[in-house]
Parts: sequence; structure tokens; C-alpha cells
Amino acid sequence: MTGRVYLIGAGPGAPDLLTLRAADILRRADAVFYDSLVHPRTLALAASAEKIAVGKRCGRRSTAQKFINKRLVDAAGKHGIVVRLKGGDPLLFGRAQEEIDALRQAGVDLEIVPGVTAATAAAAEIGISLTRRGLARHVAFVTPRSAQGERDNDWAASVLAADTSVVYMGAGLARSISTELIHRGKPASTPVALVENASLPERRVLFGTLAELPALALKAGDGPVVVLLGEVSRSGLMRHSPVSADEIEGLLKQA
Ligand code: SAH
Repeated sequence: MTGRVYLIGAGPGAPDLLTLRAADILRRADAVFYDSLVHPRTLALAASAEKIAVGKRCGRRSTAQKFINKRLVDAAGKHGIVVRLKGGDPLLFGRAQEEIDALRQAGVDLEIVPGVTAATAAAAEIGISLTRRGLARHVAFVTPRSAQGERDNDWAASVLAADTSVVYMGAGLARSISTELIHRGKPASTPVALVENASLPERRVLFGTLAELPALALKAGDGPVVVLLGEVSRSGLMRHSPVSADEIEGLLKQA
């Protein structure tokens, strides 16, 4: 094998949230395999590269994944610099390990460049600290989605245990998320923030409670969405709720 594969995080959407290291590698790339959420301007940095779309939104099929693994290995045999560009951070909910394992097994040189993940981009969007002092000391990144054949995924247990949670790939499952969590003891009044298209001009933010989550999800568009759950979102809810800010600050102090 002559080439090296760079597994790169493209960030949440805005092209200028790419790291300088990622931009430098893209400019020198010979081939770029990219996901569907990658911004065209990010891709354009790879001016002289062959660009191959391998993205799939939501529909995850293991045969397709195996095919991507194989194409990456093949490309490393042909090119000097091969980039595998994934949305957000490549090591969160991106099926990166399958690609890493396949490349290692084939003896391909690999380097990973982290990116800004959707959770922190969404928090920045709404100006809320995920670990607000006094309210949150742990954060869970979860997804209720699991592919066929995967072991059971008790995402709800993590949400119940964490002060703050960020749910990825959950917009289409809003009703079952809300029902399951309330059924297992999470207060229906837990503040939630739904953030769609974080970092992009089409961004949309909806605040409400866990009980209202299904209604919020219906209001959202078809862009990528994360749901922030937990007391830290209350200040956002405060700005959008009929209850006065003073009243909620009082509640927060008691909490
Ligand atoms: N590796 C990515 C996550 C890939 S899974 C990361 O670190 O962000 C795809 C999910 O990420 C989407 O279903 C959505 O939940 C979330 N997501 C990606 N981009 C987003 C954005 N700009 N705004 C809100 N959510 C986003």
C-alpha cells in the first residue's frame, strides 16, 4: 500500500467550522469519499481530487458499508492522499470503526482528524452550556437508532442517568423517545431544545418540554436534528415560555 487514508470530520455543516488541518489535507487530496451532509464549499477545497459520494441519510445497510470499506482500501492502493470525509466528528455515530478496522486489516496507513460534533454546534447555536455549573456534571450523547442485528441499545438508561443528554438521529422517533422516557420516570416537564441544521443559515430552534417533543418534531423541517434534554435547556425554554423569566430563575435556584 502506498497511500494514506485520512478520516476527517467535516464539522456540523458550516464550511468554516472545518479545522485548519482538515482544510490543508483536503487541498492536497487525490480522492475524497464524502457523506451526504458535507457542505459543497468544504468539498470544493479538494480542488484536484476525484470526489465520490458515499453518503446515505438514515438508511444504513451493512452491504453498502462493506462496499465503502473496500473502496477505501482500493483507493489507498492507487492514490497518495485519500480522504474519508464525514459530518461532524468522524468518531461519533459515523460507523467509523468499521472503516478503521478494514483499513488496518488491509495494512493501510490511517490518520484521523477530529471535527466539531452536532451536539456542541447545537449548544453554541442556542447559547447553552451543556455542563452549566450547578446543574449538569455529565452529558450523554445517545441515539435510539440501531441497525439490524446490533445488540439491544438501552439509550434511555443513559438519558435517565445523565444531567444533560443530546439525542442524535432522533427526530423521526420523537414520539417513542418522549413516551419511553416519561414512562421510565423522566419528568414530562423536562426542558428540551430541538436544533435543526445547527451552524447553517437554515438553522431552526424549537424549545419545549419532553411531553411536547413529538409536537416540536412535527414542526421541524427535514434537515438534521439533535435534541438537547435536561435542565440546562430551561433558560432557552424561559425565553420562549409564558412563564416569566424571574419565576423560572427562582425554580432554578431551588433545584
Ligand atoms: N458524526 C456526526 C453525527 C452523524 S449521525 C457528528 O459528530 O455530528 C447524523 C446525525 O447527526 C443527524 O441525524 C443529526 O442528529 C446530527 N446532526 C448532524 N449535523 C447536524 C446539524 N447541523 N444540526 C443538527 N443535528 C445535526
